Amino acid sequence: MTMRSKSQIKYIGAHVSAAGGVDQAPLRAREIGANAFALFTKNQRQWVAKPLEPKTISAFKANCKMLGFSAEQILPHDSYLINLGAPEEEKLEKSRAAFIDEMARCQQLGLTLLNFHPGSHLNKISEQECLSKIAESINLAHQAVPNVIAVIENTAGQGSNLGWKFEHLAEIIEQVEDKSRVGVCIDTCHTFAAGYDLSTPEACEATFAEFDRIVGMHYLRAMHINDSKSALGSRVDRHHALGKGEIGWHCFEYIAKDPRFNAIPLILETIEPELWQQEIEQLRTFHQLAVSE
Ligand SMILES: [Zn+2]
Ligand SMILES: [Zn+2]
Repeated sequence: MTMRSKSQIKYIGAHVSAAGGVDQAPLRAREIGANAFALFTKNQRQWVAKPLEPKTISAFKANCKMLGFSAEQILPHDSYLINLGAPEEEKLEKSRAAFIDEMARCQQLGLTLLNFHPGSHLNKISEQECLSKIAESINLAHQAVPNVIAVIENTAGQGSNLGWKFEHLAEIIEQVEDKSRVGVCIDTCHTFAAGYDLSTPEACEATFAEFDRIVGMHYLRAMHINDSKSALGSRVDRHHALGKGEIGWHCFEYIAKDPRFNAIPLILETIEPELWQQEIEQLRTFHQLAVSE
């Protein structure tokens, strides 16, 4: 029997609750048969959190070790309040401080990825100015905290949120000084809502070719695997269970089978947590088929 190389592995999981402490998250991931997970390291709707306690940090690390979760399988997500492209100085400062705190928490937990939504211009500054502020925010966080990679999530483009066009992501990355510590998380629901079709294998082929051309596949550090309740190009962010929305199973089968999506966290943020285990199993089945073909 040959050992399967690491690059053939698919890391599939979900955004699990950290209620009761971050150390509980890996246990919840295990319960649904996941070999990847996402979590908030603090309450995502509050600006300030009390520091992680040393006993929580060591319990988190022990649980991850026991269950076989390494840093590359874990995708922490920052607070929804943070706007790294905020037009107003006060809000920008507050966001940057909170983001640095998020990054420091990741580092304390031994984690190397931090997933975040790029930011919004709130119709007060130009797209270019906002993208520059976001890049500068990443540069400042890089200076403040070592090792952690800033993983920019593409958005559905709701309201004045930037990051829905691949060009936005490229423009941010272009202005980040340490390119080894910046990456992208592609959310399938957001991509579709932003106007990039994923509903057929051919559409997936074209969309990811475009992503590769504009951003570069080597920047892909994680994915959010969600179906979409809203239509192609609607710019409305409404997740759905896999196969129940406008995208459909073709896309998720495509991702599960394609080795370009190996060895990065593939995280479900679908709306029926009771289906997560099944969704993970189905994705794994597709991956197994591709490996044995
Ligand atoms: Zn997402
Ligand atoms: Zn979303």
